[in-house]
Order: sequence, then C-alpha cells, then structure tokens
Amino acid sequence: MINVTKTYLPDINRYKGYIDKIYGSGQITNNGDFVRELENRLKEYLLVDNIILVSNGTLALQVAYMILGLQKEVITTPFSFVATTSSLVWQGLKPRYVDIDKHTLNIDYRKIESNINSNTSAIVATHVFGNGCEVDKIDGISKRNNIKVIYDAAHCFGVDYLGKSILSYGDISILSFHATKIFHCIEGGALIVNDKRFYNKAREMINFGFDNGKIVELGINAKMNEFQAAMGLCVLEDIDKIINNRRLVYNHYRDSLNKQSICFQLMNKNCSMNYCYFPIILDSEKELLKITSKLLDYDIIPRRYFYPSLNKLPYIDNQSVEISEDISKRILCLPIYESLSESSQDMIISIINNI
Ligand SMILES: *Cc1c(COP(=O)(O)O)cnc(C)c1O
Repeated sequence: MINVTKTYLPDINRYKGYIDKIYGSGQITNNGDFVRELENRLKEYLLVDNIILVSNGTLALQVAYMILGLQKEVITTPFSFVATTSSLVWQGLKPRYVDIDKHTLNIDYRKIESNINSNTSAIVATHVFGNGCEVDKIDGISKRNNIKVIYDAAHCFGVDYLGKSILSYGDISILSFHATKIFHCIEGGALIVNDKRFYNKAREMINFGFDNGKIVELGINAKMNEFQAAMGLCVLEDIDKIINNRRLVYNHYRDSLNKQSICFQLMNKNCSMNYCYFPIILDSEKELLKITSKLLDYDIIPRRYFYPSLNKLPYIDNQSVEISEDISKRILCLPIYESLSESSQDMIISIINNI
C-alpha cells in the first residue's frame, strides 16, 4: 500500500537514547530539558527568536486567538484544514470567508478589505501547502484597518520569504508538528509570537496562566512533553535528508505528469519551498474520482486535501465562496514522502498519464 504520506521514524536506537535519559532524570513533562533544547534548536534552524512549543497545532491556534483577544468576526480562508475554522468556532468567533486565488490557493488579499466591518477583529490566513501568502499586502491591510493577523503556517516548516522566515510576519504564526507533517514530534506544534509582551503572555497561557508559581491570568494546558520533544530532536537531525528526498519526489512528479488536464499550484516566487504536499488540480470532480478509483485499484491512496470547502461544514451558516468550492471538488494530493521509491512513483505517474 502507498499512502498519501508516511510518518518519518528516526533511528530507534537514537530515540531510545533520549528515553533512557528521560527515565534517568524522571522528568517527563513541564518544560523539561528536551523541550527547552528543542526550542533552542528550532530557533536556530527556523531563524526565529520567539518560539513556544505546544502539544499540537490546533491548540496553538486557539491560544493565539486568546493572546490577541480576538472578538466577534474573523476573516479567514475557506480552503484549509478543518482546524483553521474549527478553532475559531471553538473560541466563539465567527468565521467570515474570503475567497481564494485559484492559482496560489491562498486567500485572495484583493478581496479582504471589502469584507472588513466594525465587527472584524483579525485575519486568519493559511499558507496553503507551504505556499506563502502575499504577506506584505496582508500586513498593509491589517495596519490600515487596525486588525490582527494570524498565519496558520502548519505547512511552512523552514519556509523563507525574501530570505527571512515567513513565520516572522503577522502578529502570530503557528506550526503543526503532527506525525503527517515534514517535521514532527508525534503530536506537537508551536507559536511564533512577534511582540515580546504577547510572547511572555503566551508562555503563561499555555501553562494554566502560571507565572512563577502564581496564577496571573486565564490559561489552558497546552504543554509539550519530553517524549514529544525527544522525537522532535531525532527528526530534526535528519531534516535535511527528509526535505531533500521530498524535493526529488516533487520534481519527478513535475517533470513526468504530462496530462493536459492537470494544473499545478502557482508558488510564490519570493518563497523557498519545503515540498510538503503534491496537489494536482483537475478539470472536474468526475476526473478526480476516476483517477482516485484507478489508483485505489493499485492500493495507492491519494487524499482530497482540502475537501469540502470549509464554508460547507455542518456548523457554519450559509456563506458561498465560489472558487474555493470549485477547487476543493477537483484537487487531489498525491503520495509524497521521504522514502517513496522511484519505482512506486513511476507507477503512480504512469497510471495517471494513461487515463
Ligand atoms: C495539520 C494542520 C493543523 C492542525 O495541526 P494539529 O497539530 O494536527 O493540531 C492546522 N492547520 C493546518 C493547515 C494543518 O495542516
């Protein structure tokens, strides 16, 4: 079976070495040595100063909204993973969807400003499949209208924008370190908080609101534990190999898929790439279903990322967002992971090319 992704598992003896140390110290959570070490390593690797590790990416989003005190309505993208929207609804915020650009698949910044009203408190945008949004344009909109910007950068591990980490844009960016992402901690995530005051507040908020043993504000438990951090430290050692192998897989698809009806995502020229997904956009949902069923015949399992368009979720009131609804019906993510063999990939390519 070839799945859309495969979790990278580092050398088991290396992981065991970390576990032995955890058993030796007896500290398994509460901002332990490995969480602090991973935080420092990630500061260097990602070139960001203000990173806080948490238990998963969804909680990172929820904590971000609390830190910034979002209220009422939030402008967001309908084309993302469900957590981008569900985290808003969970915090009692109302998503207002702005349609996407059909080429980049990111929120269309040209349509944001006309959707801002007196209830709008923020923009929550996703860098879809690691493709950076027009961050300068979005930052300009936020300043002119005095609203916050949060980037769901779950797909953006290691992505730069004009030579600087894309995570340094907006008020807060979040990362996900879930097992399916290119860098993972089994489960995990991070907040990158660009304002020092909010950064200190975030530290307290992810730990019940404690500051030096005293509760100073409302908090939640979003702490990462030592076993998660140990996995992260192991995976980080191999990250260059992981990204390089994914690049080969990515480029092989780009060079070899030759069906007229396939379109590729338009990538932001100012951004570096991390090759986290390989989406193809087809002519119709009918064609997508045909390709999917043919691949399934060979035990190859692609995924419909992202389907449905988030405005169609059962807990969202009626809002129509034409382009997102259309794209979500005919976009398919093909298998891409570090150890995908060339022969398996050739099989996928020939099945698709021969339909
Ligand atoms: C994976 C993902 C999340 C959620 O992260 P978890 O760590 O699984 O909670 C949020 N947004 C996007 C775009 C994602 O792909």
